[in-house]
Amino acid sequence: MQSEDSIKQVSIVYDDYFLEHKPFYSHPENPARLHSIVNFLEINGLWRRLKHLPIDVDKEETLELLRLVHSEHHIELVEGTAGSYGNIDADTYYCPETHSVALQAASAAVRAVSAVMYGHTNKVFVLARPPGHHATFSEAMGFCFYNNAAVAAEKAKKMGAENIIIVDYDIHHGNGTQEIFYQRDDVLYFSTHRYPFYPGTGRFDEIGEGKGKGFTINVPLPSSLGDGEYAKIYEEIYTPIAQKFSPDLVIVSAGFDAHYKDPLGDMRLTEEGFAYISDIIIRATPKAKGFIFILEGGYNLEGLSESVKEVILTMAGLKKPERARITNNIDRIMFESQRYFRDWLTN
Ligand SMILES: [Zn+2]
Repeated sequence: MQSEDSIKQVSIVYDDYFLEHKPFYSHPENPARLHSIVNFLEINGLWRRLKHLPIDVDKEETLELLRLVHSEHHIELVEGTAGSYGNIDADTYYCPETHSVALQAASAAVRAVSAVMYGHTNKVFVLARPPGHHATFSEAMGFCFYNNAAVAAEKAKKMGAENIIIVDYDIHHGNGTQEIFYQRDDVLYFSTHRYPFYPGTGRFDEIGEGKGKGFTINVPLPSSLGDGEYAKIYEEIYTPIAQKFSPDLVIVSAGFDAHYKDPLGDMRLTEEGFAYISDIIIRATPKAKGFIFILEGGYNLEGLSESVKEVILTMAGLKKPERARITNNIDRIMFESQRYFRDWLTN
């Protein structure tokens, strides 16, 4: 019975209310995503064994933090959607509840940070939606309204974290997160993503600006890469950069649309591959106070649920994922990385 409790090291932040952000037409970012994850974890007997953190966050506090990463105009625009149906852009629908669900998703990220910073837990998975990494300072886009990872980073700063990594393995580039921290040297953004692809950003040479120069790290990838290639990139590029930066906190924009079954993606990662790179992220910086995984994309329900489960088992130390073989040549990506991130990758 005691050994079973090691999974209690992993905390979950979830609320049924996240299911109330609903499309009024067929759309891949819909409540079935979270529903299937929770269902799958229940069927596997994991759900009741995880530690669940209630979202007891004052909405005013979340709004204050949102004002640090979004313009007042943006927040007013999202608030203005309350009670109606519509679209912000071709991809991004809203329904009467969207504004308050998005606020609750940001609050979930805030809750995860306070639990870690108070030392109550050191690994949290935030199972929230709508996702956040495309939400820029002034715009909702790409299914995203509020940037949950960015809000989490600001909360951690407020609670004394000096430097934070946001690492993003969603297949899409987190343009919003990049933009918000582009001129900052205290929040390092590291992203692997398909390129060229939506939203069009994330080239090697987008490295930050001003004192943030060098603190945005983009590794753009061709399609069809698999577990072995991702493993190499996270071992040989992410790990040395993360070790040198030595973060107090690591926030993972955990999107699972690079899964081989994903309808939007066209990468070849398996659930084992997601578990492996998550394990690398956790092992890279053992001195960090904690690791907060925040759900971003992932649109094949089976691939999404299985990947989240394997990542949670890995976070709990109950699974040791296997390293896969490399099947595609990524010499050019490694070469370009050495060139653009030379200061990080040499001693
Ligand atoms: Zn995505």
